[in-house]
Amino acid sequence: MTEFETATLYIVATPIGNLSDMSQRAIDTLKDVSIIAAEDTRHSGHLLKHFSISTPSISLHEHNEQQRSEVLLQRLKQGESVALISDAGTPLISDPGYRLVSLVREHGIAVVPIPGSCALIAALSASGLASDRFTFEGFLPSKQGARLQTLQLLLAESRTMIFYDAPRRLQATLHDMVDVFGETRQACIARELTKLHETITTKPLGELLAWVSDDTNQLKGECVLLVEGVKQQKDTSETEINRVLALLLKELPVKKAAAITASLLNVSKNTAYDMALKLQQK
Ligand code: SAM
Repeated sequence: MTEFETATLYIVATPIGNLSDMSQRAIDTLKDVSIIAAEDTRHSGHLLKHFSISTPSISLHEHNEQQRSEVLLQRLKQGESVALISDAGTPLISDPGYRLVSLVREHGIAVVPIPGSCALIAALSASGLASDRFTFEGFLPSKQGARLQTLQLLLAESRTMIFYDAPRRLQATLHDMVDVFGETRQACIARELTKLHETITTKPLGELLAWVSDDTNQLKGECVLLVEGVKQQKDTSETEINRVLALLLKELPVKKAAAITASLLNVSKNTAYDMALKLQQK
């Protein structure tokens, strides 16, 4: 039984380096569709040839996406199926395709993802940084002023932040990150993922900057940069101190309850003790 449907737009992920990461479902879909829209037809030609896929392709890139989307929409309306691929990884993730997908969905035509490689997810999964909540920031601006401004807006971000970067800019980016986030914030460079020279290194930002400055090999190839989010500030408001004290005072003497509250909330023992006494007198 084939899952293949007519009049459907398939969003097909391709490898980010290692061709063995191409899924069987991706190969089958690319063989079955009427046409493949590829970011760069010449680049994708190698991949298609490798998997003996002879489906015709047309280009869909940043500069022709609007016009190509209309052409593809007409073909979908006539019952043909279309696959979208990008140069590497998952289309639409810092790659073209958003306009096509929204147009096609507006016309009530099915859009089906064929998931697979994605550099940000691969990097996050092996970085050792918190993965329960994260934010993908894509590429930072190339001009330093705008880059610093974007980073400053992320100062209070508590989720792991993920950036794509060009190797020629990595050193400058790290430099700005040290300026904004400080040199002790944990960060990770995930370079050449799934390829021969894959390296995934997690260290404080200052050490990462020193490392790539000493070993310029680390500036080669493709990379994802991840930065730990800011640690949540402890709530040391009076209400919170009283809440913790009240809980502890149910079980402990004043002195003990005050000492534990002081160390939990990072407030002075005297403050906690005075507040505990007032609570007891109520
Ligand atoms: N759509 C792709 C995806 O799903 O990850 C991303 C395309 S974006 C134009 C290219 C950027 O992705 C690179 O500059 C780099 O930051 C990251 N990237 C792609 N392949 C990578 C790899 N093998 N190792 C590390 N980073 C990679």
